[in-house]
Amino acid sequence: MVRVRYAPSPTGLQHIGGVRTALFNYLYARSTGGSFVLRIEDTDRERYSEDALQDIYASFNWLGVSWDEGPDCGGPYGPYLQSHRLERYRAAADTLLSRGWAYECFCSPERLEALRSEGSRDGVVGYDRHCRELTDEQRFSYRAKGITPVVRLKIPDQGTASFEDLLLGTVKRKHKDLPPDPVMLKSDGFPTYHLANVVDDHEMQITHVLRAQEWLSSTPLHILLYEALGHEPPKFCHLPFVTGKDGQKLSKRHGATSVIEFRKQGYLPEALINYIALLGWSYDDSREFFTLDELEELFTVEKLNKAPAVFDYKKLEWFNGNYIRACSDARLFEVLSPYIEQAGLLPAGEQSPQAEVVRNAIPLVKERLKLLSDAPSLLRFLLADIGDDYTAEDLVPKKMDTGATKALLEAVRPLVAQLDGYDDESLENEFRKVAEEYDTKLGNVMMPLRVAVTGSRASPPLIGSLRLLGADRALGRIDAALAKL
Ligand code: GLU
Ligand code: ZN
Repeated sequence: MVRVRYAPSPTGLQHIGGVRTALFNYLYARSTGGSFVLRIEDTDRERYSEDALQDIYASFNWLGVSWDEGPDCGGPYGPYLQSHRLERYRAAADTLLSRGWAYECFCSPERLEALRSEGSRDGVVGYDRHCRELTDEQRFSYRAKGITPVVRLKIPDQGTASFEDLLLGTVKRKHKDLPPDPVMLKSDGFPTYHLANVVDDHEMQITHVLRAQEWLSSTPLHILLYEALGHEPPKFCHLPFVTGKDGQKLSKRHGATSVIEFRKQGYLPEALINYIALLGWSYDDSREFFTLDELEELFTVEKLNKAPAVFDYKKLEWFNGNYIRACSDARLFEVLSPYIEQAGLLPAGEQSPQAEVVRNAIPLVKERLKLLSDAPSLLRFLLADIGDDYTAEDLVPKKMDTGATKALLEAVRPLVAQLDGYDDESLENEFRKVAEEYDTKLGNVMMPLRVAVTGSRASPPLIGSLRLLGADRALGRIDAALAKL
């Protein structure tokens, strides 16, 4: 029975790398009929943030990724917040102490700080094992002075930690190359990441740990800890790095990285899921489109890639456009409305006359949307007064003057008045005839008309826009444009 987990530390917003880890664990559980656990690793109280915790719930809720066990829904291995499990880490530290795998260290922060600065000067890293061989009397006297110790793991000088990574094969590291005697339990009773992570993966009966390659360097230490505690380690699979196009680890420098930013920018959750699933996994050489349901069936660890996954913002945008076009008009109305409301173009609520206008316009703009947030600017001309959106110069096509532009607008005016008497094709033919008559390109006829009725050179298809606006309003706008000229 597969049991996997996502174990985020609530210190920042959920980013692409974390979501990829969560998604692959989720998919692995779903594809094998196993369980997916959310465990919150909140033992670093200095970096803990309540907003970050709420962001975990909000992000995955929006993405449609859910867990079978977690702090919000409970489960048989809870609690799922590490800060509520402190007595278990204390007990594990005691086990390590009683087995001779750990020792108490009473060194003052000042001493450790001095070690660090000397070390960085001499190129020596880490703790000098000062307290490794303290006698009972020495420990007693430290305690009598009121000093509470930390618990450090005894890293053996001999031997090698080794494990089979599902993706990377055999990974080995000599014990003597591990950081000397890392802290397991701090003096305030909180565990460090390593101890809490290993204790919980064992107690929660996690069978497979799929995590980012950033954690690969910690795994030999974890293997040693499992041995010290007398537990069988789970299987490990370290997922490839996610980089920008420059090969550097994906970061803010490259663009949006957090779920909430992508959401604000107007990405659909299904587009993000589809794209993230392809960061280090592929089904075959050709298939690109996958719904979450399909991924839940098709995902296998065998099809993970070792090579770093390059995050391509353009490709994600392309996916998004595709998913927008695949939306029903009703769903699109629902997901677009918040953006249009935010732009002040639509009153909240579904019943306003403006809502009706937006509903009718959806088939027209669907093809043009790459991001949901593109909607306000495309729909503005239907919902607001555009008189101040453009200047007289904006109306005049290149290499033409005001007079010629005026003449063209006057020539198309009667056609617009008769809008309902033409189908799209014959209306375009009439525009073409005007172009011929004035010895110019069709584009030069359409452009001033487009600016006049939509206020912008980039609008949804012109004839469709005219129809949505209606002949009367369109004529009023043409007249306003003529007046400007
Ligand atoms: N709390 C760690 C993190 O923030 C967990 C790493 C792991 O999956 O072991 O990513
Ligand atoms: Zn010490």
